[in-house]
Amino acid sequence: MVIKKSTETRSTYENVEARCPYCSYWNIYNRASDIKNFKLLIEKIVVCQSSSCNFKFLIEKDLINPAWQMLILDCEVLKQRKQYSYCILNLTQSFEMYFALFLRVELLYKPFGIEKSYNENLLNKISDLLFESTRKWPFYLLRNTFINFITNKIKSNGLEQSNSIILDLKLYSSEPTNEAIKSIEDNKLSDLILRLKNTQVNILRNRIIHKYGYRPTVEEVESSKDETEQILFGIDYCLGVLNERRYLYE
Ligand SMILES: [Zn+2]
Repeated sequence: MVIKKSTETRSTYENVEARCPYCSYWNIYNRASDIKNFKLLIEKIVVCQSSSCNFKFLIEKDLINPAWQMLILDCEVLKQRKQYSYCILNLTQSFEMYFALFLRVELLYKPFGIEKSYNENLLNKISDLLFESTRKWPFYLLRNTFINFITNKIKSNGLEQSNSIILDLKLYSSEPTNEAIKSIEDNKLSDLILRLKNTQVNILRNRIIHKYGYRPTVEEVESSKDETEQILFGIDYCLGVLNERRYLYE
């Protein structure tokens, strides 16, 4: 018997969803709990979750953009369901994930590639150090550090230097001046970084999650989503598209 394939699928940051070609049941497979890995699904055979069906079928297409992009893409579904608070949480988290990705690329993967000694133990040790150093950082410290790395052209030429930079990472977290941002040679990047410095999405997020329990409007969601997309996709384009998959063996 030929296994049918699903013709209707949806990929999100946490789930892969697919309509069963036999019974039309809409299945939701969680990447962490059901699929048990975060890799791109190619030609994956799954079992329909409807207890009256349980047929096997094929999921042909999956989509995994970098995590920060998936969080923005997921907003569309959340918006349709009018879950506006979650949209704002996703958008703010996409910024934070982008800053963290940038630091991993600049302090781990690029120096690791330069050294060519491929000392994976050292890479893992410094990766843990970076994680521990920034684990409790609020949005604005990550944002400041990201901006200061760009305005000061901070580059690491090896993992030992990354180690020193990370031990002093707090030194890079002071608020950048507008003058420093305007001195970035790439005018497009400079304008985007200035917008990043002024974004209020994190403040809106704080009003939602703290005791005020603020509930945002659709207008706030739409303007925050537009702003996030323009800033992050724009900056990512200027920086040469950061993609962790390029540096990791999967
Ligand atoms: Zn089914």
